[in-house]
Amino acid sequence: MTDSLPEFLAHSLALEHEAAERYRELADIMENNLNPEVGAVFRDMARFSGRHHHEIKARVGAMVLPELKSWQYRWATPPEATDSLDIDFFMQPYNALRIARDNELRGYKYYRQIAREAADPEIKRLAEEFAQEERGHIAALDKWLAQAHRPSETWEKDPEPVEVTD
Ligand code: ZN
Repeated sequence: MTDSLPEFLAHSLALEHEAAERYRELADIMENNLNPEVGAVFRDMARFSGRHHHEIKARVGAMVLPELKSWQYRWATPPEATDSLDIDFFMQPYNALRIARDNELRGYKYYRQIAREAADPEIKRLAEEFAQEERGHIAALDKWLAQAHRPSETWEKDPEPVEVTD
């Protein structure tokens, strides 16, 4: 568990950086699939993550951060998607939005858990703030998901997105 501020900030920085990269990738895929509208959604998401990354960097200042292993912050992809998102030229907006949402939810849960369990009040405060930010991202993606066509043949069961309950 993250019990030091540098560790928490390192994790947050890595999460936002990873999110920005994946969003740029998803934006490229959507633009290549002639879906500029959804592409623009991902460009916006990439910008939000990038901005958040900068804000966290400012908070870090001269602090020395620990190095993380990539499994501690990499996005999870569903079994249907390959390791590298960029070769999936036929990815539908729905699938792309779901991948993004699943990872935003993961980020949200991570921050919420830290907010609940951290002893350091500054970590608690930041984690709660970051969790609310992720919650906003999930809400934005949900809006687009509600309008997206469900490609059931590629996304076998198409289960409903998990509600944010917490
Ligand atoms: Zn986010």
